[in-house]
Amino acid sequence: LAERLQGTFDKIKSRGVVTEADVKEMMREVRLALLEADVNFKVVKKFVNDVKERATGQEVMKSLTPGQQVIKVVNEELTNLMGKEQSKIAVSSKSPTVVMMVGLQGAGKTTTTAKLAQFLRKKNNRKPLMAAADVYRPAAIKQLETLGTELSMPVFSMGDQVSPVEIATRSVEQAKEDHQDYVLIDTAGRLHLDETLMDELVNIKEAVNPDEILLVVDAMTGQDAVNVAESFNEQLGITGVVLTKLDGDTRGGAAISVKAVTDKPIKFAGTGEKIDALEVFHPERMASRILGMGDVLSLIEKAEFSVDEEKAKEMERKMRTADLTFDDFLEQLEQVRGMGPLDELLNMIPGAGKMKGLKNAQVDESQIGRVEAIVRSMTKKEKSEPAIINASRKRRIAKGSGTTIQDVNRLLKQFEDMKKMMKQMSSMSKGKKKGKGNM
Ligand code: GDP
Ligand code: MG
Repeated sequence: LAERLQGTFDKIKSRGVVTEADVKEMMREVRLALLEADVNFKVVKKFVNDVKERATGQEVMKSLTPGQQVIKVVNEELTNLMGKEQSKIAVSSKSPTVVMMVGLQGAGKTTTTAKLAQFLRKKNNRKPLMAAADVYRPAAIKQLETLGTELSMPVFSMGDQVSPVEIATRSVEQAKEDHQDYVLIDTAGRLHLDETLMDELVNIKEAVNPDEILLVVDAMTGQDAVNVAESFNEQLGITGVVLTKLDGDTRGGAAISVKAVTDKPIKFAGTGEKIDALEVFHPERMASRILGMGDVLSLIEKAEFSVDEEKAKEMERKMRTADLTFDDFLEQLEQVRGMGPLDELLNMIPGAGKMKGLKNAQVDESQIGRVEAIVRSMTKKEKSEPAIINASRKRRIAKGSGTTIQDVNRLLKQFEDMKKMMKQMSSMSKGKKKGKGNM
């Protein structure tokens, strides 16, 4: 998915003008990429429509950096698709909090039960009891007990001759007695969805009234995960999802679809076989990972920075007409300060990214303070008409700002260079846009 999108995004990212055709082309790529990542086709269809609508909307087309805005929309919608924000595991008002782990065989229920127990102890300072209620799979009870021993955490078991409903009920009683504040019930799975399994889970649910029913889903199963999640949710009513084996799945399709079809939050992600390989699920990080753009977040942050659009537009206009004053220069410097090197700022301005020799225009940030002092020592007239700054004025400015005449000269030169560059730029974009440039 990542590679596929990268090219399209690269193309669109630096561009100042995004047409509807661009958005269409981009969304075609996004669509293919998501389908390739094994995202459910209905989910893809809705996603693409949502993004298209927003991306061709006023807010994006009229913005200063439409290319980045489109990326931002894709990223936001992708995040929304996986849940707006991270969601926490339930805490019951009366102890113990009961958590049921459900899912198909091999999904990672038993492993995740142990991972979660350790997580709750380590991060939330809780005392969980694990309950072995899978009486069908040979050695399932032993597996959980071994994990318990490894972690030095208690495991409740009654062998495999007792019904899972009874085991679950008794485990909650046991937890109360021992003042354990969580019970994690590891249930049985089947290779495929079937009624017997579902009936049994419904019975356990009715018996223990869990605060949380976590569906454990193997991320590698892609599309199948959707059907699994849909049935479990319909028949049992889940409260959240744990996606396992994300370490083996670079596509991330399951994450997108599962949330979309169940509308239940993905709460945790399993990222390895080891007990500590459990992470709180962050939708926005997953979205970036799926988009595969390492710099996407910073890019977006910068796009957000340009929210001060009126100012930015005014600046753009001045740059085009090259009637920049030292006041603008100062304002620009202030913005640069909060953002990084000047060349990056210029990169955000349509067309400027392609300028050759831009690096020479870079302002050494350590010098910004001095530059600021110099500009502040200028009179109003000097700021708007730097040409009048003669030798005696330079001396006065240097003295007033605690700098040298050389510093003042250097700044004046930089300012001239910048203006020249802007003239160049503006004629460049005039050429490109054929007549629209002289606005
Ligand atoms: P259950 O049948 O649902 O209880 O599944 P298990 O907990 O027994 O796990 C099945 C297999 O998946 C085991 O070999 C686990 O080590 C492995 N597994 C579980 N979670 C993860 C994960 O997040 N990453 C990887 N790579 N393997 C996992
Ligand atoms: Mg198991």
